[in-house]
Amino acid sequence: MDFKKEDENYIYGVIGRNVKKYRKLKGLTQAQLAEKIDYSLSFVAGLESKKHQTFSLGALWRISLILEVDMYKLCIDEEQEKLKPKFLPYVCENCDYHTDIPIELIDIVSKANSLNYQSKDIYPSFTCPDCNSKLTYKE
Ligand SMILES: [Zn+2]
Repeated sequence: MDFKKEDENYIYGVIGRNVKKYRKLKGLTQAQLAEKIDYSLSFVAGLESKKHQTFSLGALWRISLILEVDMYKLCIDEEQEKLKPKFLPYVCENCDYHTDIPIELIDIVSKANSLNYQSKDIYPSFTCPDCNSKLTYKE
C-alpha cells in the first residue's frame, strides 16, 4: 500500500524503497544487511516492504554507513523527484525570444540574489541574448 504524503507512514515507504535500491547496488542480500547492522532479517524485510515498519534514526544511520549512502539520500522520494520539472520557460519582455532555463541555474541565481522563488513567486530575471531586455519567467 502506498501512503499519502501527509501520512507519516509515507516516509517509511520512501526509505524502504531507497534502502532496497542501495542494498542491491551494494550487492547485499537482506540477510547480509541484517547481519551487518545487527538486526533481524524480518526487520530488514519489513523495512523494505510496503508495510508500515518503524525504525529509529540510529538504525537508519547504521544502514546508511553500511550501504555507504548519505542518510539524507535515503529520505528522498525519487519517484517525486522524477516528476519535478527540470526547466522553466522564460520569455523576453521586449522581443519574442523565449527559452527554457534549467532549474539548477535558477536556484543558483536565486540563492546569489537571496530570492526565495519557491515560496513567493519571485523568479530571478535574466538578460535576453537578442535584445538585452529582461527575460522573465512565464507560467
Ligand atoms: Zn529580447
